[in-house]
Amino acid sequence: MIIIGAGIGGLLTATLLEKKYEIKIFEKGIVGGRFRNLPYRGFQLSTGAFHALPHGSTGFTARILDKAGIPHRIIDGDPWGTFLIDGKQYRFKNLYSFLSFMERFKVSRVLFDMRFTKGDDTPLGEYLNDKLNNDTVYRVVKAFCGFGMSIDPYDIPTRSFFSIVRCLYRYGGPGTVVGGCSALTDALAKGKNIIKEEIKEIVVEDNEVKGVVDSEDRFYEDNIVISDIGIKETVKLTGKNNFPGDYLKRINNIKEAEGIKINIATKDGIINHNGVLITCDTERVEGLNQVTNVDSSLAPKGYHLVMTHQTLRSNNIKKEIELGLEDIEKIFGDKDHEILLVQTFRNGFPVNRAVTGYDFDYKTPVQGLYLVGDSAKKETMEVDGISKNVLELYEYLS
Ligand SMILES: Cc1cc2nc3c(=O)[nH]c(=O)nc-3n(C[C@H](O)[C@H](O)[C@H](O)COP(=O)(O)OP(=O)(O)OC[C@H]3O[C@@H](n4cnc5c(N)ncnc54)[C@H](O)[C@@H]3O)c2cc1C
Repeated sequence: MIIIGAGIGGLLTATLLEKKYEIKIFEKGIVGGRFRNLPYRGFQLSTGAFHALPHGSTGFTARILDKAGIPHRIIDGDPWGTFLIDGKQYRFKNLYSFLSFMERFKVSRVLFDMRFTKGDDTPLGEYLNDKLNNDTVYRVVKAFCGFGMSIDPYDIPTRSFFSIVRCLYRYGGPGTVVGGCSALTDALAKGKNIIKEEIKEIVVEDNEVKGVVDSEDRFYEDNIVISDIGIKETVKLTGKNNFPGDYLKRINNIKEAEGIKINIATKDGIINHNGVLITCDTERVEGLNQVTNVDSSLAPKGYHLVMTHQTLRSNNIKKEIELGLEDIEKIFGDKDHEILLVQTFRNGFPVNRAVTGYDFDYKTPVQGLYLVGDSAKKETMEVDGISKNVLELYEYLS
């Protein structure tokens, strides 16, 4: 079996299937992809993720790690998060204080819908407008979608959002990885056959995959190829002529989730818990976490590491960053803080290669060619969504 890409998607797949298959993983850049530590001035920043998993120690990723006996420590948020509104932090249950009696009743009905009905293609924003039309609820949901998925409520169908809500009830909220992203990806990569080469072609004959060709024109034969490089790139390497028109049309319409992360050093700290802070009254920043509340080794002694996230809302990157920095000034007020690094995620290095709700299945129209990673998430968001898809592929190939 060949896996293209040693991102967390490729590594989790190899971990589950290595007992059944002999696996070669090809990686053109750094092992771990967007789930790796990025050491900077003594801080453990990251290439992408916030050193966290959406469903912490009880989500789909943790399930794979447990199943394969991969050592890890994930500390669940307690509370999962708080919400910053008008300069004050609130727990979820206290948000009800913003609502009238009638609005509380309506919110309970909406939560019931989310937990017990499937939803449909209606955009979440439209659904909320129709059912509640409440500004505070909309701000909370908008900030949650932005922080969690780099997406606007009008861009996610209720079927996907309801599924995420169900997963939160079932598997719990976010957890932070002790040691940061690399603690997981290094442990997953250990002992694997990783070949540091770029794949430039996926070879297909009569609609069946035959192998791959690397940048040195070497051919590696195999009748199973699993791609962790995103659906667009996968089709590019395979050749469009191998895919039906309606599949290509879906790919053409695919939207990447784009965002900006701002890394901050602070001695004072901004939150006193190990969950996330969803910021609801800011111009751009939608949330942050302070991973040093879980693992102080992610920053030099005496410092906290805070990472903020915002959805990229225009192509004017300079302006978007300025608005984010203004928000940070507002959030921190007179608390000590220093901007360490601003990272922009777009153009082939996004937050997600397919926005949540528009993912592809692991099966492609080409026999033997499968898809994992962040354009093939299932049921929930981010890496736990990637892991759910990997678990299903594992069942299929076992
Ligand atoms: C700012 C930000 C914050 C995030 N926060 C979180 C979070 O807190 N929690 C969470 O769960 N998720 C988070 N995510 C999402 C998460 O980081 C990604 O979903 C995940 O890392 C994607 O993994 P992947 O394996 O799909 O892709 P990648 O990590 O991109 O891996 C793909 C790999 O394939 C390699 N590759 C590409 N082309 C080729 C080729 N032709 N030949 C060989 N190798 C190739 C690449 O070099 C790369 O290493 C965040 C993302 C960002 C950007």
